[in-house]
Amino acid sequence: MNPETAKNCPFCQEAIRPAAKICPRCRQWLTWRSFRNPFVGVIAMLAIVAVAAICIMGLLQRTINPPPYYVDSPAALQVLDSQMFFRNTTNGPRIYITGILTNQSQIAWREIEFECRFFGTNGNLTDAYTARSYSTVQAADDSAFRVTVVPVKDAQDYAKLKLFITNARNKKGLF
Ligand SMILES: [Zn+2]
Repeated sequence: MNPETAKNCPFCQEAIRPAAKICPRCRQWLTWRSFRNPFVGVIAMLAIVAVAAICIMGLLQRTINPPPYYVDSPAALQVLDSQMFFRNTTNGPRIYITGILTNQSQIAWREIEFECRFFGTNGNLTDAYTARSYSTVQAADDSAFRVTVVPVKDAQDYAKLKLFITNARNKKGLF
């Protein structure tokens, strides 16, 4: 080997050809510009796995809970009518809220979340409860619902009710 064109391996100091990618003596990789370099190969594989995982998670998320989302069309569901019944059951007092939901969108919704605000006879807010109805409201349709609330105060603290629909899930979603 011509000593003028040779370089030394940084690992074992063996004189080797300048273009050598692997030291012929100690088998160390001398360049990062090759996917055959095991370190570059591992890093490239990790990057591919990370990108694939992000894609699969995004796809899974869109399968489980596909758009459009209820937050993007919060007026899609409206409570047409609702009544409240206070009952003493063997399991303690319960408030049953029944009503009619109307769906003014072209998307079927399910797992509808209600925010129930209760007011006492003096008009003050006395309690609040988030209830969920598992019935489905088809696109451009009406649906009756009943949700059960466990009261924590006396019956007179539940004189008046205001219902707000806070969330729902697109029926096309999995689970
Ligand atoms: Zn070497």
